[in-house]
Amino acid sequence: METNQQQEHVHLLIIGSGPAGYTAAIYAARANLKPVLYQGIQPGGQLTITTEVENYPGYPEGIQGPEMMVDFEKQATRMGADIRFGLATSVDFSSQPYKITIDESKVMTADAVIIATGASAKWLGLPSEQRLNGSGVSACAVCDGFFFRGKDVVIVGAGDTAAEEALYLSKMCTNVHMVVRRHEMRASMIMQDRVLKTTNIMVHWNSETLEVLGDKKVEAVKLLNNKTQVETEIPVSAFFVAIGHQPNSDIFKDALELDEQGYIKTVPGSSRTSLEGVFACGDVQDKIYRQAVTAAGSGCMAALDAERYLSAKEHQQ
Ligand SMILES: Cc1cc2nc3c(=O)[nH]c(=O)nc-3n(C[C@H](O)[C@H](O)[C@H](O)COP(=O)(O)OP(=O)(O)OC[C@H]3O[C@@H](n4cnc5c(N)ncnc54)[C@H](O)[C@@H]3O)c2cc1C
Repeated sequence: METNQQQEHVHLLIIGSGPAGYTAAIYAARANLKPVLYQGIQPGGQLTITTEVENYPGYPEGIQGPEMMVDFEKQATRMGADIRFGLATSVDFSSQPYKITIDESKVMTADAVIIATGASAKWLGLPSEQRLNGSGVSACAVCDGFFFRGKDVVIVGAGDTAAEEALYLSKMCTNVHMVVRRHEMRASMIMQDRVLKTTNIMVHWNSETLEVLGDKKVEAVKLLNNKTQVETEIPVSAFFVAIGHQPNSDIFKDALELDEQGYIKTVPGSSRTSLEGVFACGDVQDKIYRQAVTAAGSGCMAALDAERYLSAKEHQQ
């Protein structure tokens, strides 16, 4: 209930409007928790910057990412979730009810909080990479590799994720050019071994990307060998960047336990964080799967965990 314009108490506050946040809102609204959800600066989350989504169950013909997220929002609203535009700018979880400041001005207090703030892919920062994003440039091989089956592609990165994604792409693409900045990889020995033994993965050591070439779509990639200073152009249809993700967890770093990369730690098999009554779901706590369907699944878990927590709390009073 609104107490004054700058402070308001809610039973359950959800932060984030990707597949995880909206799914949590659908379940929480149907459980009569009257959730309020703040969307952040990217209503709909990461899928709003992609085109075709072909791997989300229930859409046999595929669907455009932004359209799918409008469907998520409509469903959450129809169930009674209160969806609002606003950014959580700080939190005070030192005592209950928890305090969350929105847009540096309005203070929301909540009996339980679900964090679904997602993660952002890291990019090289090249203007051509930005210009062709979604037109052959991608940060998700599992999401977009299928569109380039039978084609040659480049993947940049040298860690375990890059190695895994290179192996994934090697099963559907003709040739996979893996661009590694140094003379060695950071990936575990077993992953390196698998990459090096895969005949259609060509590793370009000591190499950096100078430019992604193409007018309307990716046509080639220009590389520089930083040892020999030789430039080469490789004709490819896609450019995958696998240099890591940044979880959107900054405002929680003093309040919750995060891992060394900044992902919110959850109790395995649940959405419970290090703090009672605060739950996390989706990419902000998942560095392994990072898919819309897994984010949605964990959003469901968070709503069910929150519902059980709030119900147990009510019975104690
Ligand atoms: C280009 C691209 C293509 C992809 N294609 C596919 C695909 O085809 N299939 C697939 O399954 N997956 C795909 N993915 C991955 C998928 O988008 C993510 O796994 C999924 O969106 C994660 O959902 P999420 O709800 O955890 O977070 P996100 O989608 O990242 O959403 C996070 C939300 O939190 C909000 N937020 C962040 N900080 C705050 C804050 N402080 N206060 C309030 N709100 C905040 C943001 O505004 C956003 O709404 C793709 C990703 C990208 C980048």
